[in-house]
Amino acid sequence: MTRKQKTQLVSDTLEELYGIPDRDLEGSVLDCLILTILSQNTNDINRDKGYAILKERFPTWEDVLEADVEEIGDAIRTAGLHAQKSRAIKNFLTQLKIEHGKLELAFLCDMETDDALQFLCQHKGIGIKTASVTLAFACGHEVFPVDTHILRISKRLGLIPSNCSAEKAHELMLQLCPTGKAYPFHMNLITFGRQICNARKPKCDQCPLTENCLYFKGKL
Ligand code: SF4
Repeated sequence: MTRKQKTQLVSDTLEELYGIPDRDLEGSVLDCLILTILSQNTNDINRDKGYAILKERFPTWEDVLEADVEEIGDAIRTAGLHAQKSRAIKNFLTQLKIEHGKLELAFLCDMETDDALQFLCQHKGIGIKTASVTLAFACGHEVFPVDTHILRISKRLGLIPSNCSAEKAHELMLQLCPTGKAYPFHMNLITFGRQICNARKPKCDQCPLTENCLYFKGKL
């Protein structure tokens, strides 16, 4: 079985298990980007707390742009890495204002996917994962964000090489993914990683993919 065929099988199996997740494109692209920057290396609860405090202190992105980096950092402290994230946010808003005259990113939804990815990734503090999440969740672009769950599972199953970097995995998983399935497959892999294929103790006795798993067969 080729990697492409195996990926199709995994995608189909997870869809049988979890269905096709709803997609909600509400909210602005810029809101989504900032929320995704805050989510780097933290959990959803701390990300949301940091975002809520930021919006409470600075209700508009113009307010955030006018604030000092230290003030932004103080507001988002709960989300962790606050110094680094506040610099990334301030830098991005500053550049966006200079280049586009206003603080909005709706134009990314009308761009070619690769161009939109390139636009976001040229800014410090915005990597391929943050850019992919933003474009997938806010615009519906066909990209494949790879988080720690997806990287782990796709290696265990042998979809990607065991030494593949997270950055490279974004490209490979999109190539392997069945056409039009990037979002549901991404979401279902995360659910699978949380519920069954955990990092430390995968529940292989509950898994429908043992036949196709290198880890289960002791080949990893
Ligand atoms: S068999 Fe075990 S390690 Fe392999 S995908 Fe299933 S849960 Fe994960």
